[in-house]
Amino acid sequence: MNRGAIAEIDLNAVSNNLRIVKKLSNNSPVIAVVKANAYGHGAVEISKRLLSGGVEYLAVAFTGEAKELRNAGITSPILVLFDADIDDVFRYNLIPVIYDRKKATLLSRESERNNRSVEVHIKIDTGMGRLGFAENAVKEIIEIANLKGITIGGIMSHFSEADLMDASFAKVQVNRFNFIKTELLNNGLNVHLFHMANSAAVMTLPESHFDAVRPGLMLYGYSPITSAMDSPTGYQVSDYYLPATGHLLQPVMTVKTKILSLRRLPSGTPISYGRTFITKRSSLIGVVSIGYADGFSRRFSNNAELLVAGRRVPVVGRVCMDLAMIDLTGIEHVDEGDDAVIIGRQGNEFIDAAELARRADTIPYEILTSLGNMAKKIYN
Ligand code: PLP
Repeated sequence: MNRGAIAEIDLNAVSNNLRIVKKLSNNSPVIAVVKANAYGHGAVEISKRLLSGGVEYLAVAFTGEAKELRNAGITSPILVLFDADIDDVFRYNLIPVIYDRKKATLLSRESERNNRSVEVHIKIDTGMGRLGFAENAVKEIIEIANLKGITIGGIMSHFSEADLMDASFAKVQVNRFNFIKTELLNNGLNVHLFHMANSAAVMTLPESHFDAVRPGLMLYGYSPITSAMDSPTGYQVSDYYLPATGHLLQPVMTVKTKILSLRRLPSGTPISYGRTFITKRSSLIGVVSIGYADGFSRRFSNNAELLVAGRRVPVVGRVCMDLAMIDLTGIEHVDEGDDAVIIGRQGNEFIDAAELARRADTIPYEILTSLGNMAKKIYN
């Protein structure tokens, strides 16, 4: 999409973050989560960089995302986490995640018709309350293993709150997963890829690493732990420093736009829809080309800062669909066409997706996908 904003994607930061994942997980195989266009960073370029850094599997949400990767020449194993189209599974050689019996039966029938066995991973619900076998999981899985044309390549589960300081429920989930794993192996199931660790668990729960880890967010340079800050049991770690490795995660995405117009406005001038901001002095107001249609939420109205000329400047008035206003009063040497940074570094200042997330009462995941997916991307 070619609108006002540009997302600069630092692929070396991706490699750095992957090295941290590898170190924390003792070089376990990595299933890199690149769904939602690699959290807004561009799935093809991110996947290529991750694969060259030694990632073994990619994971996407839907078949359409996997097709994009295959069409770009990516040949690695790809897990489809949520809704694998059966024809595409065969056509594009994908690994569907199975969480109900119906899909397993359909796949079995189709693999018989194609005269080709299909590898699947099976999802167990250990406490997320979303997808997966829960009651009778062991029985169901053994039955699926006996279906013709189906090979179970892996068994997985997903955490609901591994990002909290209080790890008690995450540990309950690990115990449930372990219990089912033992039962399955005792029943003769021949599967050796058990996986459940998302970024938070990669960082804080080594007992959840099993045979592979499955991170998303930390590959893009953010700790999910910060997103739990608002929870009563949550905490804020120093944003990027991971004590276990002594390394810093590096945010991968910078989002910038341009100042379209600069105006000197007298005191008492209302700014933008609803006149929610009125200048209290003679003010230099910049109009920048980013709005809620670019993923810059309307919640940032009078409630965010951008970086201009190495300084933090406030967003004033309501954020519009394509534009937002900033107060540049007192900033010297600023001109129309200059950069305004939405997330990233300028001079000694830094704004990250975690800061915007706190302001908008959301999580960095939403900020990255919203801004990244709308911006034109530049890779370096
Ligand atoms: N596994 C599954 C099934 C997911 O849905 C996600 C992300 O939402 C992940 C792994 C990665 O989680 P995170 O980005 O917190 O590392």
